[in-house]
Amino acid sequence: MKIAENLVVQIDYTLTDNDGKVIDSSEGAGPLTYLQGAGNIIPGLEEALIGKETGDKIEASIAPDKAYGERVEEMSQQVPRDLFAGIDNIEPGMQFQSETDQGPVMVTVVEVADDTVTVDGNHPLAGVHLNFAVEVRDVREATAEEIEHGHVHGEGGHQH
Ligand code: ZN
Repeated sequence: MKIAENLVVQIDYTLTDNDGKVIDSSEGAGPLTYLQGAGNIIPGLEEALIGKETGDKIEASIAPDKAYGERVEEMSQQVPRDLFAGIDNIEPGMQFQSETDQGPVMVTVVEVADDTVTVDGNHPLAGVHLNFAVEVRDVREATAEEIEHGHVHGEGGHQH
């Protein structure tokens, strides 16, 4: 069965940046199962997998506009350290939910100074060119309920 819209796809993958650093991998975590065409995974990877079938191995190099978008510098800003009162050790890499005019945004601490903390609301992979090595493990029909919900049920999917 070739990968197309509304099919459930199971893949093993390794994701590296352009320096060859592994960002994410299904190794250890188990294969990723997703519903093709439902926006469960980044658009560039969905496109690269169209027409592939079980056993196929592909390498896909995906620019930020088909992945997590370009970085928006305005989303990085310095805020008073007082905002983090009650948190003893603020360190780069920590993530917080921040309320903004556009709704809740996950921000990452990038720098901590005496009086200020620099937080970044960009997705951690915004602006990053992604290189996927993927092996297709399984392709199956989705159930009507999975298509309606826009995600996979059962093993590797939503348990509800
Ligand atoms: Zn569901």
